[in-house]
Amino acid sequence: MAHRTADRPAPARRPPVSFSAELLPYLGAPDLDALTASQRAGRACVWGGRPIPLAAAVDLGEEIRDGVHHFPQACGQCIAVHAFNALAAHSIDCGPCHGEDWEICPVGGGLYRLQRDARRLARGAC
Ligand SMILES: [Zn+2]
Ligand SMILES: [Zn+2]
Repeated sequence: MAHRTADRPAPARRPPVSFSAELLPYLGAPDLDALTASQRAGRACVWGGRPIPLAAAVDLGEEIRDGVHHFPQACGQCIAVHAFNALAAHSIDCGPCHGEDWEICPVGGGLYRLQRDARRLARGAC
């Protein structure tokens, strides 16, 4: 396993959509144990399972388990859907977000921007 990080794109080629790690728990990404090797390496979408074109990939953040580094990614299409659903669920119990006043809530604002930006990415194949 000498080439663990070989699939990691160079920083200059990172996709334009990023989001705070604090939002990850709201998105409900599948656990690493449930993913294929391609999904764990970021070559396939963690939700839809299809290969992700770089232009449509959203980084879900590095995860280290048992000393192995994983780089799960999602396609723009899937993460937009999950961010939208997470925003809807969060808005039920959050006063500002319930009134669509997302800018004053870090969670609602972050999820809103994430789903908006992810929708603009090239379409995933999922
Ligand atoms: Zn997908
Ligand atoms: Zn909120």
